[in-house]
Amino acid sequence: MTESVAKFETVFLEKKAPENSNSAKLLEWCKRFSESGLAPLDGEKSHGNLSFRSGNGIIITSSGSNLGNCSENELVEVEGCETEKFCAKVVGLSEPSSETFIHWEIYGKLPEVNAIFHGHSELILKHATELGISVTENFAQYGTIELINEILNILEGNMFIVAREHGFFAMGKSMEDAGKLALEYLEKAKELEEGK
Ligand SMILES: [Zn+2]
Repeated sequence: MTESVAKFETVFLEKKAPENSNSAKLLEWCKRFSESGLAPLDGEKSHGNLSFRSGNGIIITSSGSNLGNCSENELVEVEGCETEKFCAKVVGLSEPSSETFIHWEIYGKLPEVNAIFHGHSELILKHATELGISVTENFAQYGTIELINEILNILEGNMFIVAREHGFFAMGKSMEDAGKLALEYLEKAKELEEGK
C-alpha cells in the first residue's frame, strides 16, 4: 500500500490559494478524517485526499499534505485535467494530490456527486465484503489509468467503494454526506473487528 508519487504534470494558471466559501468546511473534514484514523500519517504526509466540486472545477488537498494540520494554502483548485496525459491545470500554491485524476473522472461520471473523500483504512478494506462494499475487480498500480478504469467500472449506484489493496472512496451530494458515510463504514468495520 505504499503510495509513490505518480508522474504527472501540473500547469499553474495562477499561483495563489483558491478562494471559496466552502474551503473551511473541507479543512474541517480533513481534520476529522485524520483524527478518526481514516487518513493515516506516513511521516508528515497523510494517506488520503479530499475534494469538493467548485465553480471552476474541483478543489482538492495538495500532494503530501498532513490532513490533520492543513490550511487553505494547501488546497488547490483544479480547473482542467487531461487524464490520459496525467496533466492538471490548477490555481494554487502547491501540487494537487496525485490522485486528482481519479477524483476528476468520478465527478465527470457522476454529476450528482459534489464531494469525494479518499482515505486508507485497513479495517474497512479487511471487512469490505462483509459490509457489502463494492471492491474493484483487479488490483491496479497506484497512479495508473488502469486503476482509474477499475474504479469507474464499479461506480454505478455506489456512493462508497474500495480500490483493492489500496483505499476507499466516499462520495456524496454534500461534504457531510461523503464524510458521514466514511465514518459510518469505519464504525461498522470496528464492530465486525471486535466481533459484535
Ligand atoms: Zn490512496
